[in-house]
Amino acid sequence: AFGLGAIQGWLSEARTAFNAAADRLDELDAAIGDGDHGSNMARGLEAAATMDYATCNTPPAAIKQIGMTLLGTIGGAAGTLYGTFFLTLAAQWPSQLNTPRLAALFRAARDAVQSRGRAEVGDKTMVDPLDAAVKAMEAADPEAPLAESLESAVLAAREARDATRDMVAKRGRAALLGERTVGHIDPGAESMTMVLELCLRHLS
Ligand code: ADP
Ligand code: MG
Ligand code: MG
Repeated sequence: AFGLGAIQGWLSEARTAFNAAADRLDELDAAIGDGDHGSNMARGLEAAATMDYATCNTPPAAIKQIGMTLLGTIGGAAGTLYGTFFLTLAAQWPSQLNTPRLAALFRAARDAVQSRGRAEVGDKTMVDPLDAAVKAMEAADPEAPLAESLESAVLAAREARDATRDMVAKRGRAALLGERTVGHIDPGAESMTMVLELCLRHLS
């Protein structure tokens, strides 16, 4: 069952993963932005993973604290958006974890990120893999094992991340470069794919 132990496991894996990916994400951001996305994410996950969750008695309470911490430590455009993402997961956390409930949960998180950042699907942002994952969960057989629908969501997120390579950035700092962003994967699409992979692996 998904509980506080799973969240601690998630935090420790996410910290390791973002620490290892920091240089790669910085390089993706250097190509179309200011080169800090990996450092931003690594700093945020480091802070979230080293916090005390003793007063958090339920998964949504811990996820809320993760959201507040990321909001205050990632910084930049992504900080607000990842804060919004996790605070929405916390606020809408379902009583049962099955494919339709998780699809609705991540749809709510996608809607919140979109309403905060005003990015449409195809604007070459973190919204692209998030939207693809939601749609894959919604398309999955509700009777199939949860692990199966979450796996299809991860595959869809990876494809959407890769597809940002051919897009023109329409939001955030990268939008200033316009056509010159074509040929580069969006750093936030890469980090969101990592976040989803880590989340979905721990939910099944
Ligand atoms: P900054 O641009 O402030 O340096 P980061 O480098 O940490 O912030 O994050 C950049 C990423 O944030 C982008 O790659 C993009 O995916 C995402 N992003 C930026 N603005 C928006 C937005 N308005 N909506 C959705 N995602 C956005
Ligand atoms: Mg940046
Ligand atoms: Mg910056």
